[in-house]
Amino acid sequence: MSDLSRVALVTGGSRGIGRAVAEQLAADGFEVYLTYVSRPEEADKVVASIQEKGGRARAFKLDSGDRDAIAAFFKDEIKGKVALEVLVNNAGITRDGLMMRMKDEDWDTVIQINLTGCFAFLKEASKIMGKQRSGRIINITSIVGQMGNAGQANYCAAKAGLIGLTKSAARELAGRSITVNAVAPGFIKTDMTDELPEKVVEAMLAQIPLNTLGQSEDIAAAVSFLASPMAGYITGQVLGVNGGMYM
Ligand code: NAP
Repeated sequence: MSDLSRVALVTGGSRGIGRAVAEQLAADGFEVYLTYVSRPEEADKVVASIQEKGGRARAFKLDSGDRDAIAAFFKDEIKGKVALEVLVNNAGITRDGLMMRMKDEDWDTVIQINLTGCFAFLKEASKIMGKQRSGRIINITSIVGQMGNAGQANYCAAKAGLIGLTKSAARELAGRSITVNAVAPGFIKTDMTDELPEKVVEAMLAQIPLNTLGQSEDIAAAVSFLASPMAGYITGQVLGVNGGMYM
């Protein structure tokens, strides 16, 4: 075993689901590298919270929409410096609107950050993990990538694409003992869903058999399991964490 630090890299680890994932993986014993783009103070809070509990974490400003910056980050901070054991592709945005009126820019930005960004991280991580002959990659997709959703054509296309990317990467990387899975959250209480009108939330609740929105910790638990030795024989899967909304 190398004596390099065992790192779990969580994109968008400064708020919401990413924050819960970062805190859980730190509690699981990984040094957590988390990325953010716009709110350094939130990222610093997560690092401080992990450190207070005796864990190790660092935050990096790194735009998931910037492929050159992602490649440079791996060269400067990861390659030869740490053992990258886990990658969680979590950073994501919405730019909702009905398809007929959707601006091309809103389509392009969502695909760039939510899908192309994941590809860029996966590509770089697979080179490092391939050499190590081990690794866990977990992509945070969405229930709407499985079901579709009016007003979210760009987001659903990106999230459905991420499922295809997960399965292809799982097949390509299995020979090197790297597993690649997706977690598909249903409706989880975060800043992203706090933006939804109350009527939309009520309509959602009516479709959730467990009759409640999920919590970020529900997703973190699924990620923790997929990153653990217990999940070593699971690859290419989409684990729905959605209160039964999609079966
Ligand atoms: P959130 O509360 O809006 O947090 C988004 C996180 O991503 C923040 O840490 C943000 O950093 C970061 N981020 C955004 N754009 C970025 C970029 N270009 N580069 C790097 N980091 C960026 O979102 P969330 O609800 O936790 O969602 C997390 C993931 O779960 C997303 O992929 C989302 O699509 C997926 N998901 C969420 C739900 C849900 O119900 N909430 C359901 C299904 C799937 P800053 O603070 O610096 O902006």
